[in-house]
Amino acid sequence: MGPGLRQLEHLRRTVPLPSHRMKNYSLKTRVMVTGGAGFLGSHLCERLLQTGCEVLCVDNFFTGARQNIEHLLPNPSFELLRHDITFPLYVEVDRIYNLACPASPVHYQFDPVQTVKTSVVGAVNMLGLAKRTKARILQASTSEVYGDPTLHPQPESYWGHVNPIGPRSCYDEGKRCAETLFFDYHRQNGVEIRVVRIFNTYGPRMHPRDGRVISNFIVQALQGADITIYGDGRQTRSFCYVDDLVEGLVRMMDNEVGFTGPVNIGNPGEFTMLELANAVIRLTGSRSRLVYAPLPQDDPRQRQPDITLAAQTLQWQPTVSLEKGLPKTVEYFRSLLKL
Ligand code: NAD
Ligand code: UDP
Repeated sequence: MGPGLRQLEHLRRTVPLPSHRMKNYSLKTRVMVTGGAGFLGSHLCERLLQTGCEVLCVDNFFTGARQNIEHLLPNPSFELLRHDITFPLYVEVDRIYNLACPASPVHYQFDPVQTVKTSVVGAVNMLGLAKRTKARILQASTSEVYGDPTLHPQPESYWGHVNPIGPRSCYDEGKRCAETLFFDYHRQNGVEIRVVRIFNTYGPRMHPRDGRVISNFIVQALQGADITIYGDGRQTRSFCYVDDLVEGLVRMMDNEVGFTGPVNIGNPGEFTMLELANAVIRLTGSRSRLVYAPLPQDDPRQRQPDITLAAQTLQWQPTVSLEKGLPKTVEYFRSLLKL
């Protein structure tokens, strides 16, 4: 054996081999948040930084905004990467929250093919990254996997009632296929997965023009414009305040018992759109009128999460009622619109 080889052999014996995770010198957990510049993602990044993680925010800014995370940029533990997850990504991380995907019907129907690609190709790329780095990965799935439900409230065991070819299908079926991919990577490759089905969530940093009902009603009420009720307004939704949702996501990611989900995270308080419109009018003191517009195709009639599983496995339950969360959201839009 020559001196070079001898030296190598010596090194092999004395220097411990790195583990499969190429740790940097920081002891912090390296967390990637895709869609981190969006409504939910920005709150999640904030929360993760508060708990001492290094955060890599990945976003293509389709519906996200730099303003949502601008205040985090000076933090040395925060890094921003403009990237579209439908393309492969090579980074070294310990945990991945996969939130990238437009969430409001107006946004996800703008370019439905890209919506499917983001959910499906994006999931393949992020799961491939999780497989290579042995990172734990959480998928932001949705109550939309239940479609227009025939069972009420919806437990995780319900398989759903989804139109595969309608205008909402790019989102609903994209998210369903992403769940399939998560469970196949788990069974086939042992990837550590967590799947959360998020029900309608609201709060500060919602986009004022994303077309979702809470942002629409508040902006219309504050501007004295007509409040647009789609259909007869008797369809229901259950609204979760953003802080509760983020708490649920973190608890799900952090569970060490290998609970993969899917788990519903949402607030079971159920309201008709007419009740919501009246609550917004009361809160804002607005003189806006209610006007009726056609119900969009395949609009679910009712939606309410059964959160028994989240309560049992994560000891999670929402703490902010609509009565408490709406005023905070109204204040946000008031200052955003300078009204
Ligand atoms: P959002 O539109 O504010 O955020 C989505 C983010 O993903 C945006 O910043 C957008 O720019 C980014 N993005 C979109 N396509 C991307 C791509 N191809 N590559 C990289 N980034 C991309 O929406 P949100 O309300 O914050 O939703 C976040 C996640 O939670 C979504 O996956 C959504 O499906 C899910 N979800 C949200 C709700 C809700 O009520 N807010 C309900 C159910 C599920
Ligand atoms: N909606 C409404 N007026 C609006 C926007 C939405 O009546 O200006 C209704 C919509 O038809 C649906 C409900 O509010 O029944 C929730 O719509 P959103 O787009 O917020 O979410 P999703 O339908 O995805 O739950």
